[in-house]
Amino acid sequence: MGIGSEIIASVSAGQMQEIFYMVQVKMGAGKIRYKFPQPLRELVDLESREFCYAALNKVSRSFAYVIQILPEDLRDVVCVFYLVLRALDTVEDDMTLENSTKLPLLLDFHKKLDLKEWSVDKIGLKDDEIVLLENFTHVLALYHSLPKIYREVIQDITKKMGKGMHDFTDKVVVTTLEEWDLYCHYVAGLVGHGLSALFSASGHESQDLKDQLKLSNSMGLFLQKTNIIRDYHEDLVDQRTFWPEEIWKIYASSLDWFAKNPKSEKSRQCLNHLICNAMSHAIDSLEYMSSLKNPNIFRFCGIPQVMAMATMDLIYDNEDVFRKTIKIRKGLTAKIMMTTDSVVIFKEYFHHFAASIEQKVLRNPQLSSCDRKLLEIIGELKSKCQTKSTGSMSSYFWVWIFFGVFVAYSLFS
Ligand code: CA
Repeated sequence: MGIGSEIIASVSAGQMQEIFYMVQVKMGAGKIRYKFPQPLRELVDLESREFCYAALNKVSRSFAYVIQILPEDLRDVVCVFYLVLRALDTVEDDMTLENSTKLPLLLDFHKKLDLKEWSVDKIGLKDDEIVLLENFTHVLALYHSLPKIYREVIQDITKKMGKGMHDFTDKVVVTTLEEWDLYCHYVAGLVGHGLSALFSASGHESQDLKDQLKLSNSMGLFLQKTNIIRDYHEDLVDQRTFWPEEIWKIYASSLDWFAKNPKSEKSRQCLNHLICNAMSHAIDSLEYMSSLKNPNIFRFCGIPQVMAMATMDLIYDNEDVFRKTIKIRKGLTAKIMMTTDSVVIFKEYFHHFAASIEQKVLRNPQLSSCDRKLLEIIGELKSKCQTKSTGSMSSYFWVWIFFGVFVAYSLFS
């Protein structure tokens, strides 16, 4: 969607202030430290550190954005952590790769981190991922510049994730809910474990945080399940499936049935059932967020969680999930990025989206057991998110000032 249609989307949702946040983001409030418009391939002779940030910008713009929020001493650490896992994921996702190559590489990927030089050609589906693996020696150079305490965490998580991906390679479908949780643990929950360990090691957060394994895992699971549920249509087109059979088999005999019957009651019930499962992690997410001390780490962790919650609200009971990939408005994304800066605002967002989902649940003429379970979760979330504040007035104030200056500047310059 172009910026024009994004503005119209915000206006028609009655959310005028989102436009100002979009302007803020566009004006560079969230400027990316390393901006490289050329293809990554032309940049490989840059120094290793610059290559890593260029690669990060190429493979994930949104992650490149949030990483700048982190305390400075954690940026290289988390950049390397992300790139190593992204490289591993590239190996996992390459369906053209023979299992005889893929399986040992997944199992041994963590051992490559002990080497000073290592790279591999022609693995990956997207060009930027191929370049990342072809120039993995640059990532190794930045990795070896990190203190040992961080390297140990990165290597440990890489080892565990590689083993998990290896074990799931031949599974065509995710069968049980237990398996769904396990798969999401390998690809996302472990990232939560790793980040908590890195935050503790940095001294910015308590030593206790790294031991909060259940909460850290839930942080990852909430994000991963949200994406899996939302990406139903995209994954179906790509002939992948991550929806757990244990749930969707209750409502249909094949997964593509929902795409053929988007308006069916069964389709919506199945979607809402999955959402109910994913929402159970939001309670842990809230507890994890409440335990953080460093304001920058808070924003880094909080922004994706609020976006996931907003996505839950968008996709609940929404038959468009079966027709296309839907995403939250750019304006809302910009607003969340610019304003999620304290536990008070975080709770306001969680409360707001939970209450919105609640309204939709209550529209159902008859409540299923899933609906009742979801209402219970929402009730708990809402009560934990009760805050005295009535809105992020201070940030609104600055937005209006900023917008006034912006308009004055545009008019008189
Ligand atoms: Ca993958």
